[in-house]
Amino acid sequence: MQQFMDRLRFRAPGEIEFHQAVQEIIDSVRPALDKNPEFGKAKILERITAPELVIIFSVPWMDDRGEVHVNTGYRIGMNSALGPYQGGLRFHPSVNLSILKFLALQQVMRNALTTMPLGGGKGGSDFDPKGKSDNEMMQFCQSYMRTLFRHMGPNTDIPSADVGVGPREIGYLFGMYKKLRNEFSGAFTGKNLSWGGSLMRPEATGYSVAYFAQEMLATRNQELAGKTCLVSGAGNVALHVAEKIISLGGKVITLSDSGGYIYDEEGLDHGKLAFVKNLKTIQRARISEYAHEYSNASYTPFDPQRNTNPLWNHWADCAFPCAAENEIGEEDAYHLINQGIKVIAEGADMPCTPEAVRIFHDKNILHAPAKATGAGGAAVAGLEMAQNSMRLSWTREEVDARLQTVVKTIHRNCLNIAAAHGAPANYHIGANIAGFVRIVSAMMDQGIV
Ligand code: NDP
Repeated sequence: MQQFMDRLRFRAPGEIEFHQAVQEIIDSVRPALDKNPEFGKAKILERITAPELVIIFSVPWMDDRGEVHVNTGYRIGMNSALGPYQGGLRFHPSVNLSILKFLALQQVMRNALTTMPLGGGKGGSDFDPKGKSDNEMMQFCQSYMRTLFRHMGPNTDIPSADVGVGPREIGYLFGMYKKLRNEFSGAFTGKNLSWGGSLMRPEATGYSVAYFAQEMLATRNQELAGKTCLVSGAGNVALHVAEKIISLGGKVITLSDSGGYIYDEEGLDHGKLAFVKNLKTIQRARISEYAHEYSNASYTPFDPQRNTNPLWNHWADCAFPCAAENEIGEEDAYHLINQGIKVIAEGADMPCTPEAVRIFHDKNILHAPAKATGAGGAAVAGLEMAQNSMRLSWTREEVDARLQTVVKTIHRNCLNIAAAHGAPANYHIGANIAGFVRIVSAMMDQGIV
């Protein structure tokens, strides 16, 4: 294992986030590798961590003042053993190959957990959507698609949303794809409901995370009702996690954006949440506005000099990190534990550092990775693809019922597999082995391709 990691670091130097994601998986799947020596002979680890396809391209576009800009566009086809590549597009200045490779690998594992025929991929650009007009956003999306359209399609690669990409961007991207390909197909998920989207798709990841937390609590004869919850982020995942927690009777006392966080001791209700949704998705304003609207709430800006996040230093039962990778470090983990935390359900990809995860396990805190908690969202992406190919549209209740069943099944599988490998209640080991074995079985069947 050490030699494998050394070779990976040599082949892909500086890709810190990717190395972290690989290390986390191989630490968990060691028992499956030991039990199946044929995996080693087939160089499964080397193959599963090497993207099948990486496309890097320039994305020139013109702003409203007539100035030309050039960004870098990426798409990674990570693994197609189980189906066409499927995974989000991220538009954020921090985007680089390391971040996208880590996200693509997480997506491969998450999609495998759904048991649907979905491979995994990820893409995006270092383009910053902040402060861009609708027209600039459209110019950028159209330019991005002028290259990507050749490499995707409903049977090849199906992109969806991630940070900085929401319904508006999916609309612009799909419009250009449709024009260039001269076809109207389910080549994206996350489309608007009126032209091929699935009911519940925008909510699905967040709801999946909250349903998963409900299942985690049930293992200790508890439920979300009456629980105080810390949620970070104020994007698509965070807002729908918060919405479902509130519907299930929990109390959400924090939300954040990249500038800072709000604390509302009384808890948010659906009205306050609607205010935040409007703020972040329509007005595209800052979360600090919440404290101006609701005088009982406070706003605390983040201090970039500090490597701890004060949001995690409030008393609560459950924590839902839904903003960014590595947002809970070692010190934050101790703060959470000292403040009585019982459950941590990740919404963002890899929001806890390896040290934080180790501390949660040592202290017997229930902690589940995003690849497991958010797999219900990936399943609804699969349901959108199914509806598109059947030219059907299921009701909200049908999709929600399927989502809840999928989440229960994934939760049970993770626990059973973890217990079978001597690691009861370890969702990391359960999720990683379940996903890994499914992908590897398909790779073994399909030969060296
Ligand atoms: P959005 O772009 O909708 O929202 C991201 C939010 O997080 C924004 O409010 C942003 O603030 C905030 N944010 C970004 N960086 C930080 C930071 N360092 N500290 C605090 N807040 C921050 O993205 P999504 O909600 O779609 O995605 C959020 C996370 O969830 C990502 O990690 C993504 O990869 C993951 N994800 C997980 C899925 C799953 O299945 N579990 C599926 C899809 C996404 P601002 O408004 O200032 O930019």
